[in-house]
Order: sequence, then structure tokens, then C-alpha cells
Amino acid sequence: MDLTGIEDRLQGVKLRTRFAPTPSGFLHLGHIAHCIYVWGIARSLNGQVLLRIEDHDRQRSKHCYTESILQDLDWLGFEADEGYRSEVDGESFVQSANSKLYEDALSLLKEKGVTYFCTCSRKLIKERMKSEASGRGYDGHCRQLKHPLKGDASIRLEVNSKMLSFWDATLGDSFQNPGLEFGDLMLKDRRLNFSYHLSVVVDDLRHKVNVLIRGLDLLPATGVQLYLRNLLEQKPTKPIFVHHPLLYQKDKPSIKLSKRNWDASIASFRKSGFSADQLIGQVAFELGLTKSEGKLKVRDLKSLWA
Ligand code: GLU
Ligand code: ZN
Repeated sequence: MDLTGIEDRLQGVKLRTRFAPTPSGFLHLGHIAHCIYVWGIARSLNGQVLLRIEDHDRQRSKHCYTESILQDLDWLGFEADEGYRSEVDGESFVQSANSKLYEDALSLLKEKGVTYFCTCSRKLIKERMKSEASGRGYDGHCRQLKHPLKGDASIRLEVNSKMLSFWDATLGDSFQNPGLEFGDLMLKDRRLNFSYHLSVVVDDLRHKVNVLIRGLDLLPATGVQLYLRNLLEQKPTKPIFVHHPLLYQKDKPSIKLSKRNWDASIASFRKSGFSADQLIGQVAFELGLTKSEGKLKVRDLKSLWA
């Protein structure tokens, strides 16, 4: 990957990216892969990394996971320049403390007349979509029904067919039509959780994140998140994307580490005697970023893209 494309597009503005884990489990090797890209690219281009805790799903998120994520990052040596450090001084960077902001965004969308109530269960949607070949996640069933305000309903965004473009450092100029490819997006679920899409877009805007580095698994959501972003911003700005390869692809693991459970937590590797630099080195090698399996320190990640 050539980082000069990112630098050129930033036009002298400082790079701001983020690591935004969901505290619904422990960090594993896939997270190290992600951190290698986030910190490696940020440090190579003299940028900043923000740490944001994405606990928008209150039923799945647990504070003990947030604590363990902080410990693992410390141990690995991935230090954020800004963001969540503790409950006390990280308020702006933990989604559960910022419901008002997501509610405001939702109100704005309601005022624009682009939201509606959806009473479909997941099962129902799945059954209906079986016969549809489009690959969208939702067929827009309730859009026309104009349900009155209901307690037990989720809120969706009308996503119309429109081609959107973005630039990605690994994929180049890219195009998606979120209306056709993704469908009407969930903004708030029936358990009153704001969706990942709504909270991540609101947060990236207010945290002034200009380079979004994330796994290729999130690529299908990029167009629809841009669509939402354009509705929320008075003067739409274009973030730069880096969708990076995932560690867990195919039936791969040739990795030495995975004689153990491939999904084992970082903490369990630590307990069985692996060093942080060993883990980072192994993962970088497995991603094809280095030629040997030797140790690698966070401060040397820059060399991967030099
Ligand atoms: N919180 C998301 C996750 O843990 C990542 C958000 C993003 O990179 O857009 O998968
Ligand atoms: Zn519906």
C-alpha cells in the first residue's frame, strides 16, 4: 500500500484516525492486525490515533471488557493520542455517555422526513428476503406503511438509489449504491439501542476523523455510512478510507500461534508466555507485511510502509 495517496489527499491537514473496539468480548489476534494498520499508518504519516469505546449495544457491552481492552493495549504498546482512558476522563469517547448526541442526529433526520418505524422481526425480514436476489439487508417493507409511533418498533433511514464514490488507499476509486446494495438502514433498534451505523457516523464527524482505517469486512457498510454522513453534515466532507485485509481469511492459519485456539484472547497468549513484540511480529508476518516472523515493536511499525 502506498501512503502517498493519503498524504496528498489530506492536503496538509493532520491525519486523525481511530481504534474503536466494541467491548463485547476480549481482544484477539484479529484486533492486533487491525491495530498494526491503524498505528502503523498513523505513525508513518505523523497523525493521531483516537481510542473510542463503541458500547452502543448496551445489552452486549460490558465494562469488564472495556477494562481488559485497555490493559491489552497497554501491554501491547498501542498508545492512543486522545480518547478513552477511564470512565472519569473519557466521557466523550464512550458511546453510552453520549446518547443525547445520537438522539439529536435522529431528530435531525426525522425533521428531514427520511426516517420511519419498522415493526418487522429479523425472522420475518429473512423469510421475505430469501426470494430477493439483491443482497440487501432489508426490503423497505415498512417504508410505505407509515406506522404511527409505536413502542415496539425500530427506526430506519430511507436510503434511496444513488451512486456514491469514495477513495480507498487499498482499493483506489470506489463506488457503491447503498440503496440497491444495502437497503434501508437501522438507526435505533427496538431495545432502544442506537445502531452501530448511526453512532459511528456521528462520532467520526464530531471527533473529526479524516482517515477511516478498518477491516475489509466493513466494506459493504461504507456506502450507506457515507449516505448517512452526507445527510448529517451541512457541508459534506469526504473521509479517506483504508479497508485492510483481515487476518482470519479462508482456512488459513499457518500461524504458529494458532496451535492454540485461533480466537484465543490476547490475555491468554500473554499468560502462556508470549511477549507483545512476538505477537505483533507474528501477526504482521501473517498479514504479509514482513518477510520474517521476528519480533516487532509498535514504534517500528512505520518501517512497514517506509
Ligand atoms: N466498533 C466497530 C467494531 O468493533 C468498528 C467500527 C469501525 O471501524 O467502523 O467492529
Ligand atoms: Zn419493517
